[in-house]
Amino acid sequence: TSLGNYRDFYEQVKASRICIVGYGNQGRSQALNLRDSGFNVVVGNIDDSYAEIARKDGFRVMGIQDAVKLSDIIFFLIPDEVQASVFESDIRPSLSKGKTIVFASGYNYFYGFVSPPPDVNVIMIAPRMIGWGVRDVYVRGMGFPALVAVGQDADGRAEGIMLSLCEGLGIFRSGGCAVRSSFREETLVDLLTEHSWAGAMLFLFRAYYDVATSLGASPEAVILELYGSGELAEIAESMRNMGLFKQLRTHSTTSQYGQLTRGPLYVTDDVRKTLYNEAIKILNGEFAREWHQEQVSGGTVLRMSLRLSSEHPMEREEERLYRILGREGN
Ligand code: NDP
Repeated sequence: TSLGNYRDFYEQVKASRICIVGYGNQGRSQALNLRDSGFNVVVGNIDDSYAEIARKDGFRVMGIQDAVKLSDIIFFLIPDEVQASVFESDIRPSLSKGKTIVFASGYNYFYGFVSPPPDVNVIMIAPRMIGWGVRDVYVRGMGFPALVAVGQDADGRAEGIMLSLCEGLGIFRSGGCAVRSSFREETLVDLLTEHSWAGAMLFLFRAYYDVATSLGASPEAVILELYGSGELAEIAESMRNMGLFKQLRTHSTTSQYGQLTRGPLYVTDDVRKTLYNEAIKILNGEFAREWHQEQVSGGTVLRMSLRLSSEHPMEREEERLYRILGREGN
């Protein structure tokens, strides 16, 4: 996607008033990028340490309600878990016809936890990049990928506003792109990552630790092998640059043979069935309801799961090793 027919429109959007609600991971980076692209940006945040950072960065900071009232375009960049209640208390009362609300994820709009009035434009610009990366690539003159969608086109301008903001954020620069998507698709692919390989990797690493140490491997050797050395990050980088399977060329032939013949053993029909079932639970809202219930009832399961995960012997060994290595958080 490029700005195409929206060049003229871009100047209008640039002149409109934008507020960034939430000056956190995404908020700060997106605010700085837009300002450097010449957009007119204020920050809406309660008066605390985040507001202080925004002021130090030279932004005018005001309460969320006032910022929304003053602005034509509202970037809603607070954590997904608190968006529904903040929307009702601080955003909805200050919304009016012709304003545009911008989400950075599909979650709340897709499930209807946040439902803006019909006379407001709703768009999504969901970076496929963590907050500091959004700023870092911009400063280096590069772009970043994002999934984009129009949820509600109240006045025929939603698409143009979305593309203009993508341009302002730096998405269309070299290395970046906007992929036409939907709130549904963004929610599916985002959550399915968390509910499949990302979670499975943690527990597979644990199982590997149990097996290898039971056979005499030292905890340090296992932890360094699995993730402590940073090789995993290098493999991820190669996947990004070369491709999922093409990066195998950077490994020895012994490694290639081992990965290609043993890897499939772990992806059984049962695993595929689980993956499919979990995808359905995302799409039909079952997971979202479960997570909502968990939050309402005080987060007991999450707390317990975190505690249980910290009781495994691997945690203690990791702490010991990371202290010696002087790693963060130890
Ligand atoms: P952060 O956790 O960094 O957000 C922190 C900001 O939210 C602070 O300004 C904080 O201000 C504010 N905030 C937190 N709680 C509240 C509350 N109850 N009321 C009002 N403000 C609150 O969020 P992220 O940047 O990580 O996420 C923002 C959006 O971006 C989400 O939709 C997320 O899904 C999406 N996203 C995030 C990515 C990432 O890499 N993190 C990647 C792609 C998309 P204070 O505490 O002062 O109130």
